[in-house]
Amino acid sequence: MIYCEKPIYCWAMVIIETAKELIEYLKIYRNKELGFVPTMGALHNGHLSLIDASLQANEITVCSIFVNPTQFNDTSDFDKYPRNFDKDIALLAERGCDVLFLPTLESMYQRESLLSFSFGALECVMEGAHRAGHFNGVALIVSKLFNIIKPSRVYFGQKDLQQCAIIQSLIKDLSYDIEFNMCPIIREGNGLAMSSRNQRLSESEKEEAKALFASLELTKTNLLSGKSIKEAVDLSKEYLKNNISFELEYLEVANAETLQEIDSIEQGQEYAICIAGFLGRVRLIDNIVFVG
Ligand code: AMP
Repeated sequence: MIYCEKPIYCWAMVIIETAKELIEYLKIYRNKELGFVPTMGALHNGHLSLIDASLQANEITVCSIFVNPTQFNDTSDFDKYPRNFDKDIALLAERGCDVLFLPTLESMYQRESLLSFSFGALECVMEGAHRAGHFNGVALIVSKLFNIIKPSRVYFGQKDLQQCAIIQSLIKDLSYDIEFNMCPIIREGNGLAMSSRNQRLSESEKEEAKALFASLELTKTNLLSGKSIKEAVDLSKEYLKNNISFELEYLEVANAETLQEIDSIEQGQEYAICIAGFLGRVRLIDNIVFVG
């Protein structure tokens, strides 16, 4: 266990690098309300909004930073994933985070796991369909972290809407006594959803990427004005073609809870419009949720 090296910010933030030490350390907080924010680091204001939500509702906030290899289906994406640990430590400590869990690979994976998860229809669409094994890796690491940290509340971002549904399913099916909280997407001024991967975009790509959010809003507007799902999606694909060189993987309108594709919009129901694809070599995702 180490204390942050920058005492001016970090008098209270503890950094722990192994599961064993964290379990031991958290024993003193067993009867306290503990909020947990799992991340892969390269922190931005989206992550920090989850930390803020946890700090508001809990006595102790634990954040983890671990670039989890088992959830990457593309090794070059894993290798290129931004890692800014020193900056992350300073940001978390400044924010008031109490504990940072920064585990080593060996601490999280002593061996290749034999366990595998299945989330039925939920993992057969969108991210699940396009990133084989992704949610298995997510569920594996998140279960490990829940078992080590035993949080009262956890905070995830709507940015990864399908991940939120997967984790809620995991909490139900494994009877974790954990309150799940989904926090809104934090965006740049031009609408681009904040993401660690945005660091790999050039300034002009960041500007171009505003077309993703605009395409989601356009889909919503067209659906609410009575266009069919096919018409609305086709118009947004056309808009994307004209405004960004984006290799689209999917643009889907789904039931916001089950994330299954739908045929038509019904009044009063909640829907999600989700998009994913590549801008250059950087994979971006985004979504909006709306009521029909
Ligand atoms: P990551 O480090 O990408 O694994 O993200 C860690 C958590 O931060 C996940 O629950 C994400 O959904 C959430 N998150 C990432 N980007 C944003 C954002 N722009 N706004 C809100 N939450 C976010």
